[in-house]
Amino acid sequence: MVHKSSVPLYWRLQKSRYTLTGTKCHTCNTVYFPPKEFCPACRRKGDIREFRFSGRGKIISYTVIRVPPEGFEKYTPYTVAIIELDEGTRLSGQVVGNPESIDIGRKVSPVFRKFHEDGPAGLIQYGIKFELVAEETPLK
Ligand SMILES: [Zn+2]
Repeated sequence: MVHKSSVPLYWRLQKSRYTLTGTKCHTCNTVYFPPKEFCPACRRKGDIREFRFSGRGKIISYTVIRVPPEGFEKYTPYTVAIIELDEGTRLSGQVVGNPESIDIGRKVSPVFRKFHEDGPAGLIQYGIKFELVAEETPLK
């Protein structure tokens, strides 16, 4: 039997990039980003539903890109970080702002920004990026 999804994969991935939509297995409460339609832990018992991440989290590690891949030259330097979301999954994403102020442990929140301008056709892709959240003064 061939499994056919009602929504083409491309659009689902686009949507997931636009809105930080992943999935959550309600059997074991594990969240997935990018979305998974199958929970490896619960297998057939998995109850997978759409889940929208807040996009808030903290920086686990980061790299400042100074020598970019082709097509990204005019954006350097830029920072790509591994972010641990508050909901408990990790993803990589670009952190906007001065690379000097980015540090491990800093909190981030999502911003909607232009991603990449593609070739002479000028197809612009938008997506989620992250910006630093202003440091809170500790209550002590
Ligand atoms: Zn599960």
